[in-house]
Amino acid sequence: MVELDPEEVWRCLGPAGNARESLHSDVLEATEFAATASQPRGISRVLNVESAARGKVHFEGGFIAEGKRLPHIFEGAEGAIFLIATAGPGVETEVEAMMARGDHIEGVVLDAGGSAVAINAAEQMQAQLMWEVEQAGYKVGPTITPGTEPWDIEGQRTMFDVLIADEIDVTLLESRLMYPQKTQSKMIPFGRDLKLVNNPDEAPCRTCRAQRCPMRMEEYVGILGE
Ligand code: SF4
Repeated sequence: MVELDPEEVWRCLGPAGNARESLHSDVLEATEFAATASQPRGISRVLNVESAARGKVHFEGGFIAEGKRLPHIFEGAEGAIFLIATAGPGVETEVEAMMARGDHIEGVVLDAGGSAVAINAAEQMQAQLMWEVEQAGYKVGPTITPGTEPWDIEGQRTMFDVLIADEIDVTLLESRLMYPQKTQSKMIPFGRDLKLVNNPDEAPCRTCRAQRCPMRMEEYVGILGE
C-alpha cells in the first residue's frame, strides 16, 4: 500500500476555499482508496548526451529530443535521466464507475487521489535517481516533461522510444496521452559543468535579464556588481 497524505490529494484538487470543510471526508476516503487501489511502478534509464544544438539534443543510441530551448537547458549536460512512473489503473477504473453512476464530486476527488499517487511515485523515484547522480559528482538540472514549454507533447514519442513502458503496463496513445492516465514522464539533464542547475545558489536565472523567459527557475536579482 502507498503512503499517501491527504494534503497531497488537496494539492491536486487545487484551492478548495470554503469547500474545504465539506470535502474533508471525501478527501480522506479518496486518500485511503487511492493508496490501497494503486500499484505504483516505474521504469528509468540514463543516456549519455552526444550533442545539443539547433533545437535538438542527440543522445546515445540515436535518440533525439527536439525543442527550441532544449539545447539551452542541456548546456554542459553529459547525460539525462528518463523516467516513467505510474499509479496503475485502479483509481481511474473506479473514477469511471463513480462518474457513470452520477457520483461526480466523489469521482473528481478520487481522480485527484490518483494524480497524487502518480506524482508521489514519480517524485520518490526521481529523488532516488537524482541522489545517485549527485553522489557520482554531477549537477542536476530541471525536470522536463513532455507537453510543456521547452518540450512539446511529441516528446512523449522520445520517452516511449527510450523506455520500454510495456514492462510497467503503460501505453502511449495516439493522442500522446498515456494509459493509465495517472502516469508521469520526465527527463532530467545532469553534468559536472551543467549550466542550468536546480540549486538556487548557482542558478544563472538569478542574474539573467531574459524577463519573459518561460523556463525561469529563480527570480531575477540583478547583475552582480551593479
Ligand atoms: S531565465 Fe535566463 S538563464 Fe534562466 S532559463 Fe531563462 S534564459 Fe536561461
